[in-house]
Amino acid sequence: MHALKTGLIRPAFILLIAILIGLSGCTRTPQEFKNKILAFGTIVDITLYDVSEEQAKKAIQSIEADLKYMHYAYHPWKQGPMGRVNMLLAMNSSFTANPILVDLISQAKELSIKSQGLFNPAIGKLVALWGFHQDERPPDPPPEAAQIEKLLAELPGMQSIAIDNFNMNNTHPQLKLDLGGIAKGYALDMIMQTLPSFNIQNAIINAGGDLKAIGNHGDRPWRVGIRNPRGKGVIASLNVKPGESVFTSGDYERFFNHAGRRYHHILDPRSGYPAEGLVSVTVVHHNAATADAASTALFVAGEKWPEIASAMGVQDVMVIDAQGRTQFTPSMHKRVDFIVAPKEVIERKLP
Ligand code: AMP
Ligand code: MG
Repeated sequence: MHALKTGLIRPAFILLIAILIGLSGCTRTPQEFKNKILAFGTIVDITLYDVSEEQAKKAIQSIEADLKYMHYAYHPWKQGPMGRVNMLLAMNSSFTANPILVDLISQAKELSIKSQGLFNPAIGKLVALWGFHQDERPPDPPPEAAQIEKLLAELPGMQSIAIDNFNMNNTHPQLKLDLGGIAKGYALDMIMQTLPSFNIQNAIINAGGDLKAIGNHGDRPWRVGIRNPRGKGVIASLNVKPGESVFTSGDYERFFNHAGRRYHHILDPRSGYPAEGLVSVTVVHHNAATADAASTALFVAGEKWPEIASAMGVQDVMVIDAQGRTQFTPSMHKRVDFIVAPKEVIERKLP
């Protein structure tokens, strides 16, 4: 009798333990790690989902080191790799470029040509004339019209740079690269590619409102906000699909006021002055460098933004114009949820 009892109880006990172990495996809540670092002149929020603490620590260390290095390497005015490439470009003869910059400059060239020169990273001298090349712009008045005219008379474009493998040659005497309109996007593309090697499949990195995601946030997509360009907080939110990036260019990011006028950092290469007509442009695209360059280009394009969006191959765009209206491509309209009721909504089909 006793032997029979223990004979039955033991398998039942083992089964119970097995079920408990199984259940604990099923109900394990995936861990989320958040971290803030300072890079690219902004606070970068990193969220890693379903990772161990050890993986997260290693990944965050690596992300921080890479972002800081890329910010230094791409900085047009520091004596780093980009500073040296700019020095060599100014010599107007063939040279071997630092490999860390070749792909970035190639992508910048391609996107600039697609944007019909509205995204034009070759206008570093114009950016410097306006004083937007410094972290803190001095409280100077806008530049003299004559100085702007002088630069416009011989405005360089990316087509002046020939790229062959690691060799580069620039034929334009006034060309100076400022990759500020694309570097952050390119850096996020690079960083996100490193995450699977830390066994991270679900993450979002948000660099001051510009972001890229991989995977999901558990059983839901990553959800992000679109900043209110004329007030605090966010005006709308949207779900980000795995691998997508969201980039916004706005006149509120870097600006100064002079004689009752706002002068911001996105310059129209056609006029030499800050671009007019729009307040903010948000672009969603799987490639962050494209989203970044396109948000800058569309901002410059003003009311003609659908034409440039189409030329640059971007579909999902949201624009706030100077009249406070919200303009959308139809595909973007479908995926955005308003938090603050919009003044007026306009759908713009791409040509
Ligand atoms: P973003 O915030 O991405 O729109 O980039 C703005 C930055 O890009 C500025 O701070 C400048 O460094 C640079 N920039 C300004 N105007 C242009 C332009 N038309 N094309 C390319 N880069 C620009
Ligand atoms: Mg940009």
